[in-house]
Amino acid sequence: MKSEPSTITIGLVGNPNCGKTTILNKLCRSKDNVGNYPRVTVAAKERSFEHQGKTINITDLPGIYALTTQSPEESASRDYIHAEKADIVINILDAGNLERSLFLTSQLIEMGKKTIFVLNMIDEANRKKLKINSAALSNMLGGPVIETNAITGEGLEKLKDCIIEVANNPDEIKQAFINYDEHLSDAVIRVQEKISQLHQDEMSETQSRWLAIKLLEGDEVMISKEKDHDYLLEMVRRERYDLARDHDGECEMLFADARYGFVHGMVLEAVEVVEDPGQRYDMTKKLDMFFLHRVLGIPVFVALLWIMFQTTFSVGEYPMNWIDAGVGVVSEFLDNIIPAGMAHDLIIDGVVAGVGGTIIFLPNIVILFFFMAVFSETGYLTRAAFLMDRVMHSFGLHGKALIPLVMGFGCNVPAVMATRTIESDRSRLIAIIINPFMLCAARLPVFILFAGAFFSEMAGTMVFIMYMLSIVIAMGASVLLNKLIPEGEPEAFVMELPPYRLPTLRAVLVHMWDKALNFLQKIAGVILVGSIVLWFLQEFPQDVKYSMDYDSKIEQLRSEPESSENSIAIAGFKQKMAQEHLSNSYLGRVSQSIAPIFAPLEFTWRDTVAILTGFVAKEVVVASYAVIYAQDEESTEESTSLKNVLSKTMSPLVAFAFMIFVLLYTPCLATIAVIRREAGSWKWAGFSVAFSLVLAWSLSFVVLTVGNLFI
Ligand code: GDP
Ligand code: MG
Repeated sequence: MKSEPSTITIGLVGNPNCGKTTILNKLCRSKDNVGNYPRVTVAAKERSFEHQGKTINITDLPGIYALTTQSPEESASRDYIHAEKADIVINILDAGNLERSLFLTSQLIEMGKKTIFVLNMIDEANRKKLKINSAALSNMLGGPVIETNAITGEGLEKLKDCIIEVANNPDEIKQAFINYDEHLSDAVIRVQEKISQLHQDEMSETQSRWLAIKLLEGDEVMISKEKDHDYLLEMVRRERYDLARDHDGECEMLFADARYGFVHGMVLEAVEVVEDPGQRYDMTKKLDMFFLHRVLGIPVFVALLWIMFQTTFSVGEYPMNWIDAGVGVVSEFLDNIIPAGMAHDLIIDGVVAGVGGTIIFLPNIVILFFFMAVFSETGYLTRAAFLMDRVMHSFGLHGKALIPLVMGFGCNVPAVMATRTIESDRSRLIAIIINPFMLCAARLPVFILFAGAFFSEMAGTMVFIMYMLSIVIAMGASVLLNKLIPEGEPEAFVMELPPYRLPTLRAVLVHMWDKALNFLQKIAGVILVGSIVLWFLQEFPQDVKYSMDYDSKIEQLRSEPESSENSIAIAGFKQKMAQEHLSNSYLGRVSQSIAPIFAPLEFTWRDTVAILTGFVAKEVVVASYAVIYAQDEESTEESTSLKNVLSKTMSPLVAFAFMIFVLLYTPCLATIAVIRREAGSWKWAGFSVAFSLVLAWSLSFVVLTVGNLFI
């Protein structure tokens, strides 16, 4: 049997005027000054009472709003907690001013003490028509939450029992902590490591983490305590400097914003009506009332997305045409200076066609990421995730996966890595597998090309539909996987909602530049190589046995007097000849052998080529079309535009089915590799490929079949 303590020491922590003294008096039946004005209790007082045969000593600490060292009250409380004088800390919260109370809590939990949370003045909260979900709060805070009314004594018996319970089983309390963003938390970890080296045996893990946070926050008292450790302080100075520079704000503010995010997210999750106007974050609350509105939130989100894609498409069209014209000029120039032959064809029909056909989408990518940067910098992106989280709740899922999911709009590779923040293995696995369904930037060119070719009237809307579809399918897949993978512990978490900010021009530009550079690197790498390889595969073998002697037919026609019928006939022969050459090439043979799989979807073997190359990277899909049709004599007839050529090769319905297929089928090689690494085995990487292929094929088939019924 484990020994249970016979005396328990407790510290009462809370804002001024939240009812600490009243509670203490009720518990100990004493009469101290109770007052409806802040800071009645200045010096710490100790009282005691008996419960279930144990002596419980309680210290009434001064009322405070924060755990800095701005005032003697704060210092006194902080020293008391830090010195581990108490077995248990009771954090009294004013239920009617929950957000303000929780700000202190957000600092308190970092000190890592066994803490009981008391929602006092619950009568006030009821009067203000606030519905507080204590169970949710308890989940998020990692300790028991007890509702009390200190005046009537309601809930105090429960509190007493809870004290005994926690004292007997301290390990039942799980430590909640705030997820700082990557930069901040990396800095905390580095400083903490240094501290652990310096204070090897004196400090626990939580104590060293807390000290690291305090030093990074520039806490004078803690810095002066460490004044002998020059190296540590120098390191802290450097980290603070770097953080302030990268984030365009004081280090203290970064921590404050993260805590505010934690509190704000928690209140939104656990309280139904919020009528607590703060000061600095007033604007944030008003905006959230709109953007996170229960009914309007999702429609507003969808509308913003629609505007984003509409603009991406329509504004992007101008620079796209300029680049297209530029590519045309380069192509013509090279055509004139390079003598006819193999090298000529390789450069014009392979390199220029593939690279040129893809690079025209650069403006679209830059515009899309302008929006993404603005959404992310203003703080709207986390709101979007929060909204989706609510939807997920109604499927019985918890949505820590949503941030990585949103990141998947950029690129699935870093997004899959970002799932590391999810602790439960099961939730993490689901998050990893559904991530490739998010429409990454690499797939955008395919949709812009197809939407423009087949749905020119509503191209922007079509792209938007693809994005919506990607979200819906990712959600649906997670519901499905949730059923398939055996149950695990649900994970409570607080989605931090940082205050809204005006984005800085620099941050937005850096973001856009990053994406543009990334795209250009892909073009210089995989697309260039892919285009060359494709060209060779479709050019060889050269010794084709044609069904008739085209060359002599054409020669014969050329020797006759010129007429329009004559030249049409020549073009016809040339085209047939090219067709035969292509279908006899390596590329043609491989694709034709796979094409039957896609026959029910009405994809041709050329589409099959594009699909195959997309396994490597989705950008190559467009490049493949460009290379294939560059060779096609037909395309030089009236217009070199890939869009126009493509629009004649299939019906809009088949095109739509093809878009859905490209949206869903197999993650690219880089994503498969990262899935294998993050999920820990080839099994899941293989599952992901198989799952997405089956889903892609089935859904395209359904769309085609249903579409054919109506058309
Ligand atoms: P302290 O500063 O935290 O020690 O707060 P006090 O114990 O001095 O209480 C401040 C004021 O709140 C007093 O007027 C109390 O009567 C009142 N009060 C304390 N608890 C409650 C409660 O649960 N409900 C209501 N309505 N008032 C309370
Ligand atoms: Mg008091």
